[in-house]
Amino acid sequence: MKYYSTNGKVKGVSLKEAVLQGLAPDGGLYMPERIPVLGQDFYDKIHLMTFSEIAMKVAESFFSDDIHKNSLESIVQHSMIYDAPLIRLSDKLFSLELFHGPTLSFKDFGVAFMARLVAHLIKDDDQELNILAATSGDTGSAVGHGFLNAPGIKVWILYPKGQISHIQEQQLTTMGHNVTAFELEGSFDDCQALVKQAFNDKELTAQRRLSSANSINIARLIPQTFYYFYGYGRLNAAGHHAIFSVPSGNFGNLTAGLIAKKMGLPIFKLVAATNINDTVPDYLKTGVFAPQPSKHTISNAMDVGNPSNFARMLALYPEGVAAMRKDIEGYSFTDAQTEEGLRALYREYSYIADPHGAVGSLGLHEEQKMYPHTPGIFLETAHPAKFVDIIEPILNRSIDIPDRLESVLHKKKLAIPLKNDFAALKHALLKSV
Ligand SMILES: *Cc1c(COP(=O)(O)O)cnc(C)c1O
Repeated sequence: MKYYSTNGKVKGVSLKEAVLQGLAPDGGLYMPERIPVLGQDFYDKIHLMTFSEIAMKVAESFFSDDIHKNSLESIVQHSMIYDAPLIRLSDKLFSLELFHGPTLSFKDFGVAFMARLVAHLIKDDDQELNILAATSGDTGSAVGHGFLNAPGIKVWILYPKGQISHIQEQQLTTMGHNVTAFELEGSFDDCQALVKQAFNDKELTAQRRLSSANSINIARLIPQTFYYFYGYGRLNAAGHHAIFSVPSGNFGNLTAGLIAKKMGLPIFKLVAATNINDTVPDYLKTGVFAPQPSKHTISNAMDVGNPSNFARMLALYPEGVAAMRKDIEGYSFTDAQTEEGLRALYREYSYIADPHGAVGSLGLHEEQKMYPHTPGIFLETAHPAKFVDIIEPILNRSIDIPDRLESVLHKKKLAIPLKNDFAALKHALLKSV
C-alpha cells in the first residue's frame, strides 16, 4: 500500500516514509491510496472474534504488502492489549469504553500500535530514533507509555513547569528507561518552539535521527478503526446497522470511523459530537469551513477550532458536503448541556461518564430522536477519574481512582530541569548515548 498527501503534491509514498515523516513535505496529511473492503465472511463472524483477531484482520488489509504476517501479528499482540468493553445502558444505548489503557484515554490505542510499528520499521537501521514531543499534559504520557522500552527508540518529552496537573506530571516523569522528561522553565508554546528548533538544527539532525509522534500520524489513525469493528461485533446485531457517536476535537477518531464505514462496517451514521468548538458541525450545516480560535470548555481535549483531520474527511468525500451529510451528522453542546448530560447518564443508568463521553452521549441522544430503533454506541474516550475535579461537584459524589493511576502518584519524579534555551536541549540530546 502506498500513501498520498491530502495536499495533493505528494503521492506513492511508502509506509515507512509516511510514518517516519508524520506530516507530508507539502504540509498535508497522509492517507492510504485505497480503502480496503473486508469480505462478508469477516462480517458474518465478527461477533465471535476477539479484539486482537479483529485488529489483525483489519491491519492485514492495510499492511500485508509491507509487513510480513508474523511481524504484524507480533505488533498487534504487543500493542492491542487494552480492554474495550461495550457497556449496555439500555436496549439501544451503549458506551464503548476506550479508557482502559495506561493514560486512561482512547489515544493509548493509536500510540501503542504506532510505537510497535515504528520499532519494526526501523529495526534494520543502524541509527537510533529519537522521538521528541512537546506536551501540555496528556499527549506526552501517552507517547511515553507507547514507546516505553521500544528497542532502538528514545523518547524526549518537554513539558511546561508548573503548568500541568500533578497527576499528569507524575504520569510523564516516572516512566524512566528510554523515556526522559524535561521540565522546562517556560510555557507550552516555548516547549513547542524548542522542538521545532531541534528539527531545524542541521548539526543536531546530522548526528541524531529525530521524529515526532504527533496525533496526525497515519500510524495512529489506522489502529483507531479497530475498536469500531470490535464494538460493532459486541453488539451482536448481525446484519443490522448501528450509529456511532464520536466526541471530537481534532477529528482523528471520527475519521477512523469513516474509514471503518468505507471498509464495509454497517455504520448507519457517524455523529460528530463537539463542545462549543463547533467548526465541523457548522460546516455540515452551512457547507463553509470556517476555523475559529479555540474556546476553553470542560471537555478540554476537544477544544480545537481548526481540526487538522478535516483534510482527511474531505479526502474521503471528494464529492463534497452533500455526500458527507449522508454519513455524518453534527451536533454541538455547551458546558451546561454537558453537565446535564453527565447527570442524565448517572440518574437514568447509574453510569458515570467523563465530560467528553457525555458530549458523545448527547449527540447520540439527538440522533436517536430521529432513529429510535437503531442501536447507538457512544465512544467513551476518557476515564472519569481524569476529570474528578469537574465531575464530583456535578454528580455530588466521589469518583474512584483506578489502581494504575493511584500507583503512579507514589513513584519518584525523574524530570530533568531545563532552561528555556535551545543550547541546553541540544546539549542534552547530543550527550546522550
Ligand atoms: C483527544 C481526545 C478527544 C478528541 O479526539 P480527536 O480524535 O482529536 O477528535 C476526545 N476525548 C478525549 C478524552 C481526548 O483525549
